[in-house]
Amino acid sequence: MPTVREIEQALFRLAPKEGAMDWDNVGQLLGDPEAEVRRVLVALDITEAVADEAIAENCQLIVSHHPVMNCKWLPVQTVRQDTPQGHLLLKILRSGLSAICMHTNRDGAPGGVNAALAAALGLEDPGPLGDPEGLCRMGTLASPMPLQEFAKHVCRALQANGVRYAGDSGPVRKVAVGGGACGDYEDAAIAAGCDVFVTSDLSYHQFLDAAGKGIRLIDAGHFPTENPVCTVLAEYLRGRFPGLTVTKSASHREVIQYYVEGE
Ligand SMILES: [Zn+2]
Repeated sequence: MPTVREIEQALFRLAPKEGAMDWDNVGQLLGDPEAEVRRVLVALDITEAVADEAIAENCQLIVSHHPVMNCKWLPVQTVRQDTPQGHLLLKILRSGLSAICMHTNRDGAPGGVNAALAAALGLEDPGPLGDPEGLCRMGTLASPMPLQEFAKHVCRALQANGVRYAGDSGPVRKVAVGGGACGDYEDAAIAAGCDVFVTSDLSYHQFLDAAGKGIRLIDAGHFPTENPVCTVLAEYLRGRFPGLTVTKSASHREVIQYYVEGE
């Protein structure tokens, strides 16, 4: 069976380490590189529930999208049982688990977050949005549909609990996608002549100003727009290492819910 190191190398062939942002932390972050792996759990994040699931499923490795520690938003100064982060890291290490995280190096890579998102939405002719090295993707719908109908399509295709959207109801055909917090790419979507931009973590002011800029926006949530990559990742590992048992986390779900008045 492959070692953690061999699996990390295979993942870096899919998404080279150099593709990661400066503030990121990718690759094997926890565990023994020489440990043999028979079972892998794939999840968008390594939460306490995901670690418990990996232990219950007798996995030796968790492969996640978001880093479990020491990227921009998750600095680790101490590893102590009495902090949530320390509790999680100690649980993983004491269980003999390893963790590999493939984050911004995978966002724009072939088979990465945005390719998976474009595929999940059924976009045709998907290609890079703006410069070829860019993170985001764009593509077209087989047939145009009004914005509200497209919002429903996005919600269902991504199994989101709801989506927030703004813009006139006119037909949508050319679609830009940026899984996760890609609001900064709004101008690229406008420059490329897209009818709508699907991303997450948008602010009130971005929604407010969108109409004046000539773009419609759909915020489908961070988890729903990025989670499709886990399926692609699991399939890649199964293809690369026959005999390895690779499962997608069943415990990790969208935590954000929507209450809509009138329903
Ligand atoms: Zn993300």
